[in-house]
Amino acid sequence: MKKKSILIVEDEVEIARLIQQLLEKEGFGCRYCGDGVEALRLFQQQQPDLIILDLMLPGMDGLEVCTRIRKQSGAKDSYILMLTAKGEEIDRVIGLSTGADDYLVKPFSPIELVARVRALLRRSLRQEEQAQVHRTPHFTVDVDQHIAHRHLDSQPSEALDLTIQEFKLLATFISYPGAIRDAPGAELS
Ligand code: CA
Repeated sequence: MKKKSILIVEDEVEIARLIQQLLEKEGFGCRYCGDGVEALRLFQQQQPDLIILDLMLPGMDGLEVCTRIRKQSGAKDSYILMLTAKGEEIDRVIGLSTGADDYLVKPFSPIELVARVRALLRRSLRQEEQAQVHRTPHFTVDVDQHIAHRHLDSQPSEALDLTIQEFKLLATFISYPGAIRDAPGAELS
């Protein structure tokens, strides 16, 4: 599996380095920068799986960076973990409504940070695993590409020419393996 990449945006170099060390020890690929504008540039270039984004930054603050990232196309797969020195509820709410996935109030414990990062990346892993290709011994259905194949013993697999409704039905059956096993005439798997 591809190493998960994390962009750390934090202007306090010691904190940034500490976070980097912690996460690299966990096997993540990390880069850091201390400036909001640079963060946006790096984000576009690297499309990291996760951004750890400090709220108070020189140049452009974390909320603005967060808002801009969320407006970019293709950015929906990156998770944003906001760091904030302020614990007030209002700041948290603003942070989350801007599109951040989670937040952590400084000072935080290393264990807490690693746990949050892992939790977010597990979420992304689950989404990858739920990738929209379903396979059974007799069918392969690619929901994104809208392609279905049937595999019959000792014959080359055959692309199915289905209407949209038929395709949806097949995709639904296949995404719930076992759920319709007892339905009369159900022989999809
Ligand atoms: Ca800061």
